[in-house]
Amino acid sequence: MKKKLTLSLAHLYPELMNLYGDMGNIIAFQKRCEWHGISLLIENINTSEDLKCPHDIYFIGGGQDRQQVDVAYDIQKIKNLLIQERDNNAVFLSICGGYQLFGHYYKAQDGSMLKGIDLLDAYTVAGKKRFIGNVTAKIDYLSPNTLVGFENHSGLTYLQGETKPISQVIVGHGNNGEDKTEGARYKNVFGTYLHGSFLPKNPHFTDYLIKLALEKKYNDKFNLDIIDDTIELNTHKKLVNKAY
Ligand code: GLN
Repeated sequence: MKKKLTLSLAHLYPELMNLYGDMGNIIAFQKRCEWHGISLLIENINTSEDLKCPHDIYFIGGGQDRQQVDVAYDIQKIKNLLIQERDNNAVFLSICGGYQLFGHYYKAQDGSMLKGIDLLDAYTVAGKKRFIGNVTAKIDYLSPNTLVGFENHSGLTYLQGETKPISQVIVGHGNNGEDKTEGARYKNVFGTYLHGSFLPKNPHFTDYLIKLALEKKYNDKFNLDIIDDTIELNTHKKLVNKAY
């Protein structure tokens, strides 16, 4: 009898950080775990007091500047816990404003600095113009080797040290509109500017994160069964082709 696989996901600040349909990422985790026969427990973390570690996956969405300020203050209280979880190879997915807070700081237009929680060796400065539009990027280690999404940010994010990009921009701006990088990864912490929401448009990336979370939890190698992604991948390919 095959043991039922289980995963737990902490959704950080769902009421404050949920822009441009970022809730769709949670639905993608839920449905793909269900289709893979994995039981997924989701806990909403609306304030730092709600967090009871460990979890296998942590998710934070994007947010307006105002919400970012509120979250930046409260998330400092669980910074050390989240760094421990990172170093235990928990999987983190952060989108846009949440991604910016996973770096060292976000410097706003008025020069004010929002402290981040240093999960990623990265920093963000508010740019003069807003990057809005569809993004297609190339990812070397997945098939298909593309990621698609929608960006809407003025923040310019720069990576350093061991923090590397997730993908290379083909169409769009990505991290800063200069170095053609999109997103960031350090250990199993991922950040991206791709809203859309991101995971439903990139089922292969969703399964990759689920695989990493299983390997972390069960300390074993996993290859997820292939499920019928015809509809998702046709949509993905249409969005890639549309970009050219
Ligand atoms: N306020 C941040 C910016 O504009 C993040 C916005 C977002 O999460 N979409 O860069």
